[in-house]
Amino acid sequence: MAKEELECSFCGRKKPETNLLIAGLDAHICDRCIEQAHGIVIEESKQSDSSDLSAELKLRKPQQIKEFLDTYIIGQEATKKVMSVAVYNHYKRLLQPASNDDIDIQKSNIIMVGQTGTGKTLMAKTIARMLNVPLAIVDATVLTEAGYVGEDVESILTRLLQAADYNLDKAEKGIVFIDEIDKIARKSDNPSITRDVSGEGVQQALLKLLEGTVVNVPPKGGRKHPDQKFIEVNTENILFIAGGAFDGMERIISKRLNMQAVGYSASISDDVVDENNLLQYIIPKDLKDFGLIPEIIGRLPVLTYMDPLDAQTLRAILTEPKNAIIKQYKKLFAMDDIEFSITEGALNFIVDKAIEYKLGARGLRSLCEEILTDAMFELPSSEEKKLNVNKLYAEEKLTKTTLKKLKAVS
Ligand code: ADP
Repeated sequence: MAKEELECSFCGRKKPETNLLIAGLDAHICDRCIEQAHGIVIEESKQSDSSDLSAELKLRKPQQIKEFLDTYIIGQEATKKVMSVAVYNHYKRLLQPASNDDIDIQKSNIIMVGQTGTGKTLMAKTIARMLNVPLAIVDATVLTEAGYVGEDVESILTRLLQAADYNLDKAEKGIVFIDEIDKIARKSDNPSITRDVSGEGVQQALLKLLEGTVVNVPPKGGRKHPDQKFIEVNTENILFIAGGAFDGMERIISKRLNMQAVGYSASISDDVVDENNLLQYIIPKDLKDFGLIPEIIGRLPVLTYMDPLDAQTLRAILTEPKNAIIKQYKKLFAMDDIEFSITEGALNFIVDKAIEYKLGARGLRSLCEEILTDAMFELPSSEEKKLNVNKLYAEEKLTKTTLKKLKAVS
C-alpha cells in the first residue's frame, strides 16, 4: 500500500487527518480511536468491578450479615441488627442502577454510642472484613480545622486510600470508622455561653465528607509533602461509622426520661426503665444535648448503642468468637506441639479480675498474657508437652502488683 493511502482501520480517517497512526500486523489505528477504546476499557472494568461487588453482596441478606457478626462479636444484639440493616441498605444503594424516578436513597452512616472496650471498633472491623472493603480507623481527637495544628479532616481519606493500596475505586466504596466522635462535641449545650470553636469547627469540616463530596486528598497525607499531586476522592459511597463513649450521656437520657414521665402519664413511666443500661433509650436529641451539632446528627442517621459487658459476656468473649483469645493461645502453643487447656475455674477467675479492676474486654488479653508469659517462655525449650491452667495456677501468676500495673496502663 502506498504511504499516502494509509488510514485508520477503525474510523477510516486518512493518515494526514490524524495526529498519530499506529501500525499493527494487518491494520492501523489512529490516536482518536485509541482514546475512545481506552475509555471503553475503563468503563467496562468499572462495570465488572461493581458487578463483582453485587455478586458478593447478593449472598448476604441482613440476617446473614448478622450471622457473620455473631461469629466474631458476643452480644450487642441491638447494634448487630441495626448494623446489618444499615450496611445492607448502604450497599443496595451503591448497587442500584441509575434511575430517573427522583427517589434518592440517602446514605446510612452510623453512630454507635457505648463505653470503651464494648466492641465498637470490632464491629466496624468485622463489617469491613465481611464485605472485603478497605477500612480506615481514625481518631476524631487528632482532627482539627484546616490551618490549625493537628490533622486536617482530609487526612481521613488519605488513610482510606492507604488502606486500599491506593486503589481509588476500592477506597471510594470503603468504610471509615471515626472513633471518639464525642470528643469533638461542643463543651456546653448552650452555644452562646461557652462556644467551643475548635470542636464545632471540626464537626463542620466533617459534614461535607459524611454527606458525599469530592475532596482533593494528598495521597501521602499532611503538610510534609507539599509538592505531591492531589487525588480526587468522592465520598458519596463511603460508609462512615462513628463511635464514642459519650461519658455523661446517661445523665442526659435519665433527665429526659424523668421529664417525660412527669409530662405524659402514658409515656415511659408505664414501662420499667432499666437503670443499668440507660443508653438503650438514646434518641438523636440526646446527641444534640451532648454537644453534637444538628447537621452532623442528621448525617449520621442510624443511631445505635452498645450494652455494657457483664461477667457472662466477658466469659464468652474469652472462648467463643471465631478468633477468641483462648483459641489464639491454643494455636500458639500447638505450633510447639504443646497441648494447652484451661479450666472453667481459671476462666471465671480471669473474668472476675477484669471486672474487679475495671479492665473491660481489652483487659482480658493482658490478664491472659500475664498468666501465660512464664509458660510461653519456658515450655518451647522443655520436654513438657502439656499445660493445664487452673485457678490456682492463674492466681499464682497474677499477683496484686501485676494487677495494679495492668490497671494503670488500661
Ligand atoms: P471500643 O471500640 O468500643 O472501645 P473495641 O472494639 O476496641 O472497643 O474492643 C476491644 C477488644 O475487646 C476487642 O478487640 C475485642 O477483642 C474485645 N471485645 C469487646 N467487645 C467484644 C464483644 N462484644 N465481643 C467480642 N469481643 C469483644
